[in-house]
Amino acid sequence: MNKTGFVPQILVIDDERDIREGCERILSRMDCNVHVADNGQAGLDIIEKEDICMVICDIKMPGIDGLEVLKQIKEKNPYIVVIMITGFSTVETAIEAMKKGAYDFISKPFSPDQLRIVARRAVDKLSLEQQARELQQQQEQSLADLVAEKSRMRTIVESLPNGVLVTNIYGQIVLINKMAKSFLDLPDDMVIGETIADCIQDDGLYEYMMKFTKCSISDDEAVESYEMALDEERYILAQGRPVVGEDGQCLGAVVNLSDISDMKLFDRLKSEFVAKVSHELRSPLSVIHGQLGMVLRKNEKQNQDGSNHILGRAKEKTQTLISMIGDLLDISKIESGKDEQTLANVQVDELVEKIVEFLIPQAEEKKQTLSLKLPSTPFPAVLADPVALESVYGNLIVNAIKYTPEKGNIQVRVCVKDKQVIVTVKDTGFGIEKKHLSKIFEKFYRIKDDQTRLINGTGLGLPIAKAIVDTMQGEILVKSQPGKGSEFTVQLPVAQ
Ligand code: ADP
Repeated sequence: MNKTGFVPQILVIDDERDIREGCERILSRMDCNVHVADNGQAGLDIIEKEDICMVICDIKMPGIDGLEVLKQIKEKNPYIVVIMITGFSTVETAIEAMKKGAYDFISKPFSPDQLRIVARRAVDKLSLEQQARELQQQQEQSLADLVAEKSRMRTIVESLPNGVLVTNIYGQIVLINKMAKSFLDLPDDMVIGETIADCIQDDGLYEYMMKFTKCSISDDEAVESYEMALDEERYILAQGRPVVGEDGQCLGAVVNLSDISDMKLFDRLKSEFVAKVSHELRSPLSVIHGQLGMVLRKNEKQNQDGSNHILGRAKEKTQTLISMIGDLLDISKIESGKDEQTLANVQVDELVEKIVEFLIPQAEEKKQTLSLKLPSTPFPAVLADPVALESVYGNLIVNAIKYTPEKGNIQVRVCVKDKQVIVTVKDTGFGIEKKHLSKIFEKFYRIKDDQTRLINGTGLGLPIAKAIVDTMQGEILVKSQPGKGSEFTVQLPVAQ
């Protein structure tokens, strides 16, 4: 056997017994599998049965001669290597044999070394051919696998019910499925390689996609989705992620587009229902609240304080219900777009200063420090409804006070960066676990753990704040570490 594990099967055809046996001995020692035949027909029979790759054949034999054997071998299998044994000085016959396809020849009488050299050359050639064949087979197989895999992937991506769009770092589309083309109103035969700048009409979606395409957002960062209205009835939600290679390098972005029209409709119906019910509840509740107040005052005058404790608790609860109803009405108004806002140029630094002053006593009750850092330079205004804006910042600072234990620290900072007015509220409170971070902006979502269970609230403050900030084309972000504190940031565009 040679280095590659290839064991050649060699057939020696010669009518001279000494030559047959001599060849068999020498070739067997070269790790070859040797067969012998004493005439041409017997040799051809062995070739039929065995996987012979090399034949050493005498030219002059009784019956079928060597040249005829060569001819028949080549007709059957042109890949078998044939070495002719020629008689004394019959060079012409040897040349004729080579012309008919013999690989080499060896003249009688030959020494063992001469046979070894000729046989070794032929075995090496066979071994190389074998390796080349195997390599080609492997290559063809991997190519076939690749093509099958690619077409399988393409079929799967095409059949997805959602739109899928993949870009490279230059913002060129490298993959897009049928659904994405239909959502983005792109022709079916659009060319791969076009840039999203040329294809995507919606500026917001383009900017959202570019954030991932340039990998300015890391793979594990919690990222907001982008909502896009196709027309009055149809809405699409885009959710992107950067595509990061094995070595951590940015390769582009993948964006999933899903049709959320049904969800939006459901949400609208739910908001309308909540608004209706809240509206109906508000008047009777206000009446009960007022009457409880009257009874309490009357009891106090008549020094009948016995049931006042229970009545006082009932009045407190009705007050909580009334504020919850107020919040619900606010949120449904904002969501339905029916909230009539009075827009004005608001100096956020002045507004936040007033809110902080107002809330300092509340923080002092919990022995907390509430500090404010304002910019020293003149500050640009934002175009907003001052009442709505006050409720956004007020809610964040009140939350910081509520969810920070006694003696904690709350820092409010106002600054301007990249034409955005930024207000940050940072506390040293309980913090929020990662799994809750994206949910605290959902309606009624409250984290109930040992630390927060007894803190009153409706779970509507942050959703209202987010809804207001959204209508102002702003952004509200949160960072938090459980046990260390939270940081809420509101960014609003500077008024033009
Ligand atoms: P509420 O305060 O009425 O419960 P919010 O919508 O304002 O409702 O807040 C939702 C939840 O987010 C809260 O219940 C609380 O668990 C969490 N949260 C908000 N602000 C903070 C904060 N600064 N620190 C820790 N948790 C907070």
